[in-house]
Amino acid sequence: MNYIFPKLKVASENDEITSSKIIQLIDKLTEEINLEKDEFLYILNNITEKEITYLNKKAYDVKYKHYQNRVYLRGLIEISNHCKMGCKYCGINYKVKTIKRYRLTVDEILECCKSGYLLGYRTFVIQSGEDSYYTDELLVDMLKRIKEEMPDVRVTLSLGERSKESYQKLYDAGTDRYLLRHETASRRLYEYLHADFMSFDNRRECLSNLKEIGYQVGAGFMVGSPTQTNEDLVEDLVYLKELGPHMVGIGPYLCHEDTELKGNDSGTLSESLAMVALVRLILPKVLLPATTALGSLHTIGREKALKTGANIMMPNISPTENRALYEIYQNKICTTDTSNQCRNCIEGRIVGVGHVIDLGVGDHIDIERVTDNDR
Ligand code: SF4
Repeated sequence: MNYIFPKLKVASENDEITSSKIIQLIDKLTEEINLEKDEFLYILNNITEKEITYLNKKAYDVKYKHYQNRVYLRGLIEISNHCKMGCKYCGINYKVKTIKRYRLTVDEILECCKSGYLLGYRTFVIQSGEDSYYTDELLVDMLKRIKEEMPDVRVTLSLGERSKESYQKLYDAGTDRYLLRHETASRRLYEYLHADFMSFDNRRECLSNLKEIGYQVGAGFMVGSPTQTNEDLVEDLVYLKELGPHMVGIGPYLCHEDTELKGNDSGTLSESLAMVALVRLILPKVLLPATTALGSLHTIGREKALKTGANIMMPNISPTENRALYEIYQNKICTTDTSNQCRNCIEGRIVGVGHVIDLGVGDHIDIERVTDNDR
């Protein structure tokens, strides 16, 4: 396990003064919804399991205040594992030759949406590697068909970096939300983790463009990636506070042995959950998924995330035969279940930790509803 918080690495306990300073900073953060960089860094450099328990409870309380114990469900469709990008941690990046590639047609995507609709989902997250097959024209056709057949749903796209014009066309055609993890707000770490042809600045520009157009925007980052430091994690918090996204996806780095980063330790559950909690405190109303990566790292990783401020889960509604091929990291869970099984399993997990499922569209609570006619 790749620990970044030094006191977790050696499992040490704090003296009373340090412990009470961390608790004071967590209280200040809860009240003022922000801290100085050096204060965030103090927390990360000194926190132990004892203060993490306190932090996670504070984050849960803030979530409860805004969303109570409701968990929004999103039906996730992984439409293609073709990708032209070179994220060195990702098992479907263009260099990986060991994976069989697939992509879904618009008809197949529609079928997934319809079966998801029957299971009660009212948001579909359509996700893919960066695959040029999905032109604006094809996606506009797909969006129109989804919205015509199921006018009461929200569509989230997660298709990577595109031009501002393309984002605008997809928005005009009915897309409600766009997920584009910033991956890391540290330029040094971004450049270490990505191929030379990829651009830290372009990724940020894409996020600004998405916000400017009017999307509900999701950003996000990995915890525990090779060479990541606490300073890098503080940059993530500062950047998220500035950007003000509607959603933030946070997951541990999970090593894939067919990538350039093979042989590295994966991130840890405690640190990933602590970052979930800190994001809940800096962005109290944000939508926070209990990510599949957390569930893949630990059997009850997602349940723990719900107890730490997360309020979204994304059951998979992709065709079962393709799921194992969307292997962005190894040992990914839920690759053999049917959509029905996923729905039942997730509901059981949610109810098991005292939460209830919410099958509404699940917008961020500050969003005024934009109907397709308003676009
Ligand atoms: S993380 Fe996304 S963009 Fe990067 S290689 Fe994987 S699928 Fe492609």
